[in-house]
Amino acid sequence: MTPAERLAALFAEARLAVVFTGAGVSTESGIPDFRSPDGVWARFDPAEFTYRNFIGSVEGRRRYWALGRITYPLIRAATPGPTHRALAALHERGYLDSCITQNIDGLHQRAGLPAERVLELHGNATRARCLDCAAPYARDEIHAWLEAGVEVPACPACGGVIKPFTVLFGEAMPAGVMQEAERRARAADLFVVLGSSLVVYPAAYLPAHAQHAGARLVIVNLESTPLDARADLVIRDRTATTMAAVLAVLAHAVPRQGATPSWLPTPS
Ligand SMILES: [Zn+2]
Repeated sequence: MTPAERLAALFAEARLAVVFTGAGVSTESGIPDFRSPDGVWARFDPAEFTYRNFIGSVEGRRRYWALGRITYPLIRAATPGPTHRALAALHERGYLDSCITQNIDGLHQRAGLPAERVLELHGNATRARCLDCAAPYARDEIHAWLEAGVEVPACPACGGVIKPFTVLFGEAMPAGVMQEAERRARAADLFVVLGSSLVVYPAAYLPAHAQHAGARLVIVNLESTPLDARADLVIRDRTATTMAAVLAVLAHAVPRQGATPSWLPTPS
């Protein structure tokens, strides 16, 4: 049995499977790793792009949006990859409850995973809102303003500060999403880490929560992680290769029914 076949068997046995996706899943879809040596953080100083600087000054926001004008088109141009498609298919067939993600690109939803099944710990780059009147804006609309020469977007309705839905450096993670992610981690009997090195919190403790509560822990990542030693299965490979193989096995199995728990959060 190959490691991917073993993972497929674990999905088939699981009562409630939860996956946790990280940057590795996005890079496979062509989104650059901003932390890589030739990534944007080699040209911009991350220390300038904090929540405090964004909220605290027009200059901080000007720098933020100058960076966003470069990075957002890369996110917009990306398309769902084999991992995104496999997860959507597994959910549709009843093998996957939900996906906790560190990614902000919205590709899980674009692949067909229902939005209420995706818990975005770091927010979503495709949406923004006014901090004063809460008016929502599509990032596409704001990007058009930036391209037209606006340096610091302000809310057309009230003149307030527009902030993307992403979690900035130094900003707290959305409390409701975090709570739900922890609840799902504890409810899972299979917890699969895909493309995360588990060095950024809360990445490091969600899998541990799941395992403490009795879940089997599987880690699929190109590099080693701090939790490899305690995982039930470690697959040192691309998530695309692994999840395509998992889906190939389960696509022939009978779809599962009735695996959905009743305490799903309502989409906001
Ligand atoms: Zn407003």
